[in-house]
Amino acid sequence: MDNQQHILIIGAGLCGSLLALRMAQRGFQVTLVEKRPDLRKTTQDAGRSINLALSDRGLRGLRLAGVEETAKKLCIPMNGRMIHDKAGNTFLSPYSGRKDEYINSISRPGLNMLLLDEAEKMNNVKIIFNHACENVDLENASATFKDFNTKKEMSITADAIFGTDGAGSIVRKSMFENHQFLFSFSQQWLSHGYKELEIPAAENGEFRTYKNALHIWPRGEDMLIALPNLDGSFTVTLFLPYENSEYCFANLTTPEMVHKYFKKEFPDVVEMIPNLSQEFFGNPTGPLGTVKCSPWNAFGKTLLMGDAAHAIVPFYGQGMNASFEDVVVFDEILEKYTSEENINWTNLFKEYETLRKKDTDAIADLAVDNFHEMKEHTAMEIFQKKRKLETAFESEFPEVYYSKYSLVTFKESIPYSEAMKRGRAQDKAILNFLANGKITEELSLKEKLELVKKETEAILRNDEVAFGKK
Ligand SMILES: Cc1cc2nc3c(=O)[nH]c(=O)nc-3n(C[C@H](O)[C@H](O)[C@H](O)COP(=O)(O)OP(=O)(O)OC[C@H]3O[C@@H](n4cnc5c(N)ncnc54)[C@H](O)[C@@H]3O)c2cc1C
Repeated sequence: MDNQQHILIIGAGLCGSLLALRMAQRGFQVTLVEKRPDLRKTTQDAGRSINLALSDRGLRGLRLAGVEETAKKLCIPMNGRMIHDKAGNTFLSPYSGRKDEYINSISRPGLNMLLLDEAEKMNNVKIIFNHACENVDLENASATFKDFNTKKEMSITADAIFGTDGAGSIVRKSMFENHQFLFSFSQQWLSHGYKELEIPAAENGEFRTYKNALHIWPRGEDMLIALPNLDGSFTVTLFLPYENSEYCFANLTTPEMVHKYFKKEFPDVVEMIPNLSQEFFGNPTGPLGTVKCSPWNAFGKTLLMGDAAHAIVPFYGQGMNASFEDVVVFDEILEKYTSEENINWTNLFKEYETLRKKDTDAIADLAVDNFHEMKEHTAMEIFQKKRKLETAFESEFPEVYYSKYSLVTFKESIPYSEAMKRGRAQDKAILNFLANGKITEELSLKEKLELVKKETEAILRNDEVAFGKK
């Protein structure tokens, strides 16, 4: 389809690049503008997570644009969480009882480059790097950019503008500062920050620990995780309170302190990170926050998408996946509008937000829940029993039972908001049964499942009475 409408996309990160590719496939004239240099030509991204967990919702977005199989070549499957205790013992907790359900570790720059390459192949896409958006004239769908090298300003006007400029979005700031409509905005920071470190490949190029897992060292208040890279290394992320804790970023101020802390809490990791203190002090500490806002559109001319609309904490590994799912949901609605001669962007944007916002709000809340689950609960016996039971349900009754994690991560046909409601009710049912001893060894697995299902339905009914149907 040839469409003479001009789309301006601000921010060529993961969401913006996929959106540009998809909109070009639909025939729009696309201009994609990025503040940084072209990451295919310069090394950058210091301090940003260099690998990410890609799962079904994200893959669905890549499939829509015809790049799923190419992206899969960059992936390392992770079948479960490998939990490391303080004594260095490990156990693998599978993500699902179904054999074909796993998540993938993928390089952030690798995936971004792939999407830029594919977008650039389209002759109706123009990509401009090194131009930072400074503000958007929302009423006139016109954005001003500053050239990083020449410092010159330029303006681009379009039929529709998409703000995919990430958590610190300038497009969103233009909405915030515009007083012609009511714009709600909230930003909540965790008391924890994150720092990335690296376990390099062994001398023979092999992985220094089990390759096909997301490794977790849960320590209650703090936590270390590690995801594998194709070159045999692992990207390690430390999540630690900024202050007011025995160990926190504020008091780990010398190499000795860092080594003492790691030796005490993560003894098996110390020997795998040869440059621990250089990395610790050389790499930046990043904040972790949730951004919610509404409306996502201004005057039917500008729409926020991806982290710009809904930045979330990374503990469900869903930020990028949700951003790719944004593109799918938007594309499905766009389909209905493309038969019209002039697309009614106002109605399209409104319909998209009505359908989508409850789901991105849900994944934002689930991601905060999972912060506590990962740093504390994965080490607790009752939660390990729950995981075991759920894995058994999923492997014996694969068509019937999906844990909360599976609903969120693998069941792309169910919106996040549904996954949250059902998943939370299931969790409550199982944890109550385990605590009050109602699930006994005498019961068969089928009987246990029936108990859980019945209790889940009762909880869902109660929630409906208390909070309405929503
Ligand atoms: C530590 C950490 C770990 C994570 N792990 C996972 C994970 O495992 N799985 C997962 O699904 N998600 C994960 N995420 C979330 C994921 O990184 C984001 O949700 C995802 O990057 C959002 O994509 P985006 O394109 O909306 O934003 P971004 O990827 O941030 O891209 C925004 C782009 O806009 C550009 N830009 C910014 N300002 C301007 C401007 N003024 N003008 C022009 N361009 C601009 C930026 O340079 C950037 O290229 C993680 C996040 C963090 C912080």
